[in-house]
Amino acid sequence: MTRHLLDALGDDYSVCCQGTAFFPLQSCMNHSCLPNAKAFKREEDRDGQATIIALETIREGDEVTISYIDDDLPFEERQASLADYGFKCRCLKCLEEEPQATLEHKI
Ligand SMILES: [Zn+2]
Repeated sequence: MTRHLLDALGDDYSVCCQGTAFFPLQSCMNHSCLPNAKAFKREEDRDGQATIIALETIREGDEVTISYIDDDLPFEERQASLADYGFKCRCLKCLEEEPQATLEHKI
């Protein structure tokens, strides 16, 4: 499903999940601050179900990624939120937004 279809679905699909649950398939998806899919838990979903919607065309062989956090947050806040998951995000968005001083420090 592409972005225009997601937009056509309305507000029910624009609200992030709230709460905690364990979904085995969704749990296999890695994080990206530029995700190509989004996870939802709708009222009509039965226990044990969640919905994953593609945000863009995902080609065979591409990794399906979701955002574990609010990916609209600034770089520093995203990294702080992801520290709870035990990793530092190295997605394209983070690499582009990472302060230059940090990049120079790593060289
Ligand atoms: Zn990132």
